[in-house]
Amino acid sequence: MTREFENKVAVVTGASRGIGKGIALELARNGANIAIVYRSEEEKARLVQAEIENMGQEVIVVKCDVSKSEDVARLHDSVMEKWGQVDFVINNAGIHQHLKSWELSEEDWHRVLDVNLTGAFLVTKAFTPHMLGKKAGRIVHISSCVAFTGTDHEVHYAASKGGLFSLAKSHALELAGHGINVNAIAPGYVETDMVVFDEVHPLDEVLETIPQHRLGQPQDIARAVKFLCSADSNYITGQVIHVNGGLIMY
Ligand code: NAP
Repeated sequence: MTREFENKVAVVTGASRGIGKGIALELARNGANIAIVYRSEEEKARLVQAEIENMGQEVIVVKCDVSKSEDVARLHDSVMEKWGQVDFVINNAGIHQHLKSWELSEEDWHRVLDVNLTGAFLVTKAFTPHMLGKKAGRIVHISSCVAFTGTDHEVHYAASKGGLFSLAKSHALELAGHGINVNAIAPGYVETDMVVFDEVHPLDEVLETIPQHRLGQPQDIARAVKFLCSADSNYITGQVIHVNGGLIMY
């Protein structure tokens, strides 16, 4: 633990639980103040708030559906009102749905794309003018390894996660000359509410496919985010970091 992020402000979407919670705690442990963004689980978001306040950092908790531009505008105003600055934007909020492509309704398709891809676009767009003004900032999109491998049970999720790579690269090109780095992380299996094992996908079979023979933990992803927000990654932009215990290798 360092105080490297003292007086920095991070917006972490989907920080009420899972990977987003891990990211919020890791950045706070290193001195950042945190805007916890959640959609529905206020109680869980408040628990994360309490943990961060116990570390001595400032926190705001904002209910915001990242797919709705009016909510995102409110998120932007809340952060600016509290701190007048943002240093790190972590687009982590995401949903998925296990269905074959031919079973998906148009509504299913749009819901997943709206949250996972449009949400990252809207949140990034909201905070970019401020980062451009101060010529500094770090933006990290949480994608997925399925963007590289494809998946046979949720094409809309995989497409949204692939879109995040293109978004990261294009944002990186636009913003590289303005002191703003934009990167993506592609997690493998991480032990959260999102990942469910059953007779069709038994845990022991999944572990066989992972060279390190363990599921990732939220902190594994959070440490990569911390690196991408730190001075150690100053010369890294438009890249994807795979954090997956060796599940896929590029
Ligand atoms: P999770 O445990 O299901 O948590 C999802 C988080 O996103 C929750 O905090 C939820 O808030 C929030 N969220 C969902 N829809 C939202 C919306 N419309 N607006 C704002 N927040 C919203 O998922 P996770 O496993 O931590 O996943 C986090 C990210 O990592 C996702 O983008 C996911 O696709 C990606 N990922 C996960 C894995 C994995 O194995 N777990 C692998 C690869 C990539 P509420 O609780 O308030 O609803």
